[in-house]
Amino acid sequence: MSKRVVILGSGESGIGAAILAKKQGFDVFVSDKGKIKSSYIDELNAHQIAFEQGEHTLEKINNADIIIKSPGIPDKIQLIKDLKALGKEIISEIEWGYRYCNGKIVAITGSNGKTTTTSLVFHILQKAGYNVSLGGNIGKSFARLVATSPTEWYVLELSSFQLDGCVSFRPHVAVLCNITEDHLDRYDYKFENYIASKLSITKNQTQQDYFIYCAEDPVTISYLPLVTSSVNSIPFSIEKQGENGAYIEDNQFIINLDKPYTIMSINEFALKGTHNSYNSMAAGIAAKLVGVRKETIRESLQDFASLEHRLEFVANINGVEYINDSKATNVNSVWFALETMNKQVVWIVGGVDKGNDYTILQKLVQEKVKAIICLGKDNDKLHKAFSSEVGYIVDADSAQEAVRLASNIADSGDVVLLSPACASFDLFENYEDRGNQFKRSVRNL
Ligand code: ADP
Repeated sequence: MSKRVVILGSGESGIGAAILAKKQGFDVFVSDKGKIKSSYIDELNAHQIAFEQGEHTLEKINNADIIIKSPGIPDKIQLIKDLKALGKEIISEIEWGYRYCNGKIVAITGSNGKTTTTSLVFHILQKAGYNVSLGGNIGKSFARLVATSPTEWYVLELSSFQLDGCVSFRPHVAVLCNITEDHLDRYDYKFENYIASKLSITKNQTQQDYFIYCAEDPVTISYLPLVTSSVNSIPFSIEKQGENGAYIEDNQFIINLDKPYTIMSINEFALKGTHNSYNSMAAGIAAKLVGVRKETIRESLQDFASLEHRLEFVANINGVEYINDSKATNVNSVWFALETMNKQVVWIVGGVDKGNDYTILQKLVQEKVKAIICLGKDNDKLHKAFSSEVGYIVDADSAQEAVRLASNIADSGDVVLLSPACASFDLFENYEDRGNQFKRSVRNL
């Protein structure tokens, strides 16, 4: 009899895992406590995969040989505790995809910059003519790629939740952009648990593999001892001009592996701002390590088209620039957004607070922000943090109202920046919806 694989959760990762399991000949069952998207139901039916929605039926789950858990399901819910008590193997979809993957992997994790860095690496490898696909936490799930369109190379964005369920997953190149406090609710409010999760990307790496990290990220540096010692660790930095790794000297981006190669001027990077220089450097080293020529790295970092909802220029109206940074859902990414601004800012901020500490923003806010529009249901914390820093601070309960208020207060030469530092679920479906509503409101001004 074939072994039984039960998949908990039916998002992109669950469906990908199910398709791969079916293809490998397992008896597959998908269980989702919520509603399954109709396009996914069609796919499950097309692959003749059994499923349930609206409940988890224990008898259909308890008899699994392998359980694949969606990254959205916390370990602390009763069902998972019970399954663990039964001694069931519970893994993530990334681990599952890895077990059937014949290609090599570049995996990117971090608190901020994952999507940007992943997209940059993919763009460089594609331009270099590699047989490569992009997925994981963005786009298609890894398991789906492995099942339906295997490639020689995979560039994967990975969240900490995806790493948590990994056992043997071993990327050839791992990139850790940075670590700042995020998602602590899933880590017993212990920052060190979240850090350990991020660093676990290296746990199976060997001396044939590489670990790329930011030498200027204080958290990464203080937890480097958790990185497996066998891997080749390659730092990147803007300030420190190290002998090994990547750095910037006289505005030139240099990669020094066996000897220093000048790749390009940082002024040529398509993506602007300090944080994007880090992302471009990390992507550049990853590409160099897998054999891409420096000319191709340079061209790719030059012609990369910027991503939606990340410091995305929307319009210039009456001399006021509007920027959509809706993806900035934590304080650290807002710090980089404000740091990049060289004009006076009308800042639209707020939403569902994830335990933010706003003190690190205070100096930049004093320097650059002339007005704050709070876009959330509960804005108390923002008022407390900033009302003594900024003369004008008001509330809005829709993107349209926020844009209207911002346009009234902004003068020619200012910038209106949506960079919320918070999740979007109080007023919007998700960060894309928030960014799209913002853009629509700006264009309707
Ligand atoms: P992620 O996928 O990790 O959420 P993104 O590349 O989508 O990261 O960027 C999310 C937000 O973080 C954007 O608002 C962007 O301006 C900011 N950001 C991007 N890269 C970095 C970085 N290296 N450090 C800090 N913030 C960053």
